[in-house]
Amino acid sequence: MVGIIGGTIPRMPRPSQTLTPATSTAHDWQSHTPVALWRNVRRLTAPNPGLMTGPGTNSYLVGDVHSGFIVIDPGPPDAQHVQRLWEACTDAQGRGGHITLIACTHSHADHAPAAPLLQALCPQRPPIVGLPSAPTARSGSHFVPDRALQSGEKLQIAGTESHTLHAVFTPGHAANHVCFVLEEDGLLFSGDHILNGSTTVIDPPDGHMGDYLDSLDRLHQHCEALGVQHILPAHGGVIDAPLQAIAQLKAHRLKREAKVAAVMQAQPDGDLDSWLPLAYDDVPPQLWPVARRSLQAHVEHVRGSAGQTRP
Ligand SMILES: [Zn+2]
Repeated sequence: MVGIIGGTIPRMPRPSQTLTPATSTAHDWQSHTPVALWRNVRRLTAPNPGLMTGPGTNSYLVGDVHSGFIVIDPGPPDAQHVQRLWEACTDAQGRGGHITLIACTHSHADHAPAAPLLQALCPQRPPIVGLPSAPTARSGSHFVPDRALQSGEKLQIAGTESHTLHAVFTPGHAANHVCFVLEEDGLLFSGDHILNGSTTVIDPPDGHMGDYLDSLDRLHQHCEALGVQHILPAHGGVIDAPLQAIAQLKAHRLKREAKVAAVMQAQPDGDLDSWLPLAYDDVPPQLWPVARRSLQAHVEHVRGSAGQTRP
């Protein structure tokens, strides 16, 4: 599960950093052949487009024929998608399955279930890394990696050159969410914490608004410290100007929260169902069932900030 669709138009990386002209990759959601975004980064979008997944889940392939590849977010359990990921990760002789590591940003059903399927295709059984799902995870989002990451841990693969992923814990959208910074290229793989073209749903109790906002601050710090130039989300296109994008995202959340707080104050005896049409009057009603989850997260955060206990 990811978010509410509708919003910004994807912006693309500088042409000088891509193998293909930027204009050809702007809305190039390829599910058959990976799209080369950077010299050592490709995107293969799973064939699962929808209201909650946008154009589909972006699986990212980081590495080269010498180093092998890290697959980030292999996606839903789609056998064809898994096979294509395997085929795309070739060694110097053109053989597939040259996968060193499988990394999952979080446990949702459109991100992690393909991991064991992809691992099973590889005789060397590349380890699956990430964070185990918390007890609050919904059924269908349970996930146990082969190895749990440490915050700040660096995952490095190397051949003729190295590729280093820096793990940044980012609870909020999911309790076990982690983002990755590719240090050599200044890229942030943001999973569902930051999307392009949609707003991430915060679904309590596994989702938590306070954690989400804190994680945004943490990502801002890391983008500054590690010189991140672009964000590669799990749904939607590449985002430029990461610091501005994160600041805008936080401002958007705080604006919504202020609106929620005002509605709660105006109707102190109301409940989620009576507050929803007022707090999300700018969102189409067909999205309200999804928005209701984020409303609950805002309400809990407002009450927590006011020092009140939950009902
Ligand atoms: Zn998700």
